[in-house]
Amino acid sequence: MCDSDKSNDITNECKNAGTNSMNQMYENMGIDPKVLRFAAETENGLEERFRHIDQKAEYNQLKVLKAMQKNHVSDMHFAATTGYGYNDIGRDTLERVYADVFNAEDALVRPQLMSGTHAITIALSGNLRPGDEILSPVGKPYDTLEQVIGITPSRGSFAEYGITYRQVDLLPDGGFDLEGIRNAINDRTRLATIQKSKGYASRPTFPVKQIGMLIDYIKSIKPDIICMVDNCYGEFVEFDEPTDAGADLCAGSLIKNPGGGLAPIGGYIVGKKEYVENAAYRLTAPGLGKEIGATLGLNTSLFQGLFLAPQVVSGAVKGAIYAASIYERLGFDLLPAAESERYDIIQAITLGSPEAVIAFCKGIQAAAPVDSYVTPEPWAMPGYQCDVIMAAGAFIQGSSIELSADAPIKPPYTVFFQGGLTWYHAKFGILMSLQKLYDKGLIHL
Ligand SMILES: *Cc1c(COP(=O)(O)O)cnc(C)c1O
Repeated sequence: MCDSDKSNDITNECKNAGTNSMNQMYENMGIDPKVLRFAAETENGLEERFRHIDQKAEYNQLKVLKAMQKNHVSDMHFAATTGYGYNDIGRDTLERVYADVFNAEDALVRPQLMSGTHAITIALSGNLRPGDEILSPVGKPYDTLEQVIGITPSRGSFAEYGITYRQVDLLPDGGFDLEGIRNAINDRTRLATIQKSKGYASRPTFPVKQIGMLIDYIKSIKPDIICMVDNCYGEFVEFDEPTDAGADLCAGSLIKNPGGGLAPIGGYIVGKKEYVENAAYRLTAPGLGKEIGATLGLNTSLFQGLFLAPQVVSGAVKGAIYAASIYERLGFDLLPAAESERYDIIQAITLGSPEAVIAFCKGIQAAAPVDSYVTPEPWAMPGYQCDVIMAAGAFIQGSSIELSADAPIKPPYTVFFQGGLTWYHAKFGILMSLQKLYDKGLIHL
């Protein structure tokens, strides 16, 4: 805001960038004054919460910086390797940085881990043998893992390799079914997979602290169960990561939070040295493990993306809270609720009709820096059980740390909204979604 005590020059400068011209700017971008006014009233109440988010970003920025300094990250680590990629010191240093950021013994951070699903699959398959059983103590895992595990029969699933699966659903209040978990654990239980984020499900996202308590409980029953956390969308949202709270393994995607929007591909697995090595033997080959894997010049983006990630994630979390606050005022059902504490970057908004879901996604698409002129349509995406609409005008294909929205086209017609490389872009995307719903007469302001 303008300070009236400042000199005339500065006052004039402020006027040019002040309230009026800002609104004009948004109107030029296609946002109706009514939409702007409604959203501004909401934003005014969010200052205190945004300050807390900034504090987490500040803390995590220092954490990343400390790990980079400790491991003497240097110009030479940005050089490209080719072929086998033996002695890729940039790759090896990046993995030590990841291990330190996550307070873990070791890390596997590779462009050859092609997605979150792939990273989780490698972490699981490297550490499971025929006859073992996987336990999910937090209900159904993320959609794409159903075929990996064989919950949905699929060629090459763990089920085909004689690895069984057992699931304990959450209690109706979203809490852990401790008795059910105790009863499910048996001689063959080798690994517990704990998904932090709700993903596309309607259940709470678990804070690190609660995951830590669950791990303690599982290990109190059978200490040698490997506790693996699917950390997708959870990185840098809290002060701590699951590996700070006792997770043996943690895996995720670099085109979500920890890639900071700059990683063009990749996944990570962090945790106990033995388990990370087991995963590396599966990713490459027994005996080769972490020793091979050229990085083809991608190291700079992976380092720089990690460096920016805390700031980028904070913008995405602000966007989620802003969206929730706006849509809650309009009477829609939300998960998490607007005032809830955040443990991931996803905001689910139940819009109640295919038309509203499609309008919302069109708004997100129209607000994008890339492909803003294309219209998203529902399609049968591989790995998903029903049609999905995805809005993403992203620099990196499918990157969901960039502003994006996905919705399975099925009742209750919930859209999952996430990302934003900057808070300002997240804000604009939400305004545009609101505008599209308003244009269709689906909301009244
Ligand atoms: C995105 C996601 C995955 C899978 O990651 P992809 O990169 O889409 O394969 C797994 N689990 C959760 C919770 C996710 O959000």
